[in-house]
Amino acid sequence: MCHNIVYGRLHKPCGCFIAMSTEKKDCNSPQCLFSTSHPPTCRSRNCDSMMNVPKQVPIRISPVNCPDCTRDKGERARINALKDAWRAKGTPPQTPAASQGVQSWSG
Ligand SMILES: [Zn+2]
Ligand SMILES: [Zn+2]
Ligand SMILES: [Zn+2]
Repeated sequence: MCHNIVYGRLHKPCGCFIAMSTEKKDCNSPQCLFSTSHPPTCRSRNCDSMMNVPKQVPIRISPVNCPDCTRDKGERARINALKDAWRAKGTPPQTPAASQGVQSWSG
């Protein structure tokens, strides 16, 4: 069964893997639809029509969060700060944050 090898960058703190390039690993089996050894004329239903799960190979290790997680963290910190301000004042904060998809202040 063939599988893809995905080379990429592993972000240590958040554990996210960002793919950079993909390479196909050929299993060289004539019974695998994805293999170059498979005859193009073969119509057998017994041949493998699925690829194996991709193998992730980190070629770079990053000591920081990935951009997505960094952004989420910043957003969460911002919301928490607004919530604190709200609690201190006793009124909902008058900011445009609500229009940016922040609907609930309870959680
Ligand atoms: Zn294969
Ligand atoms: Zn991440
Ligand atoms: Zn076949």
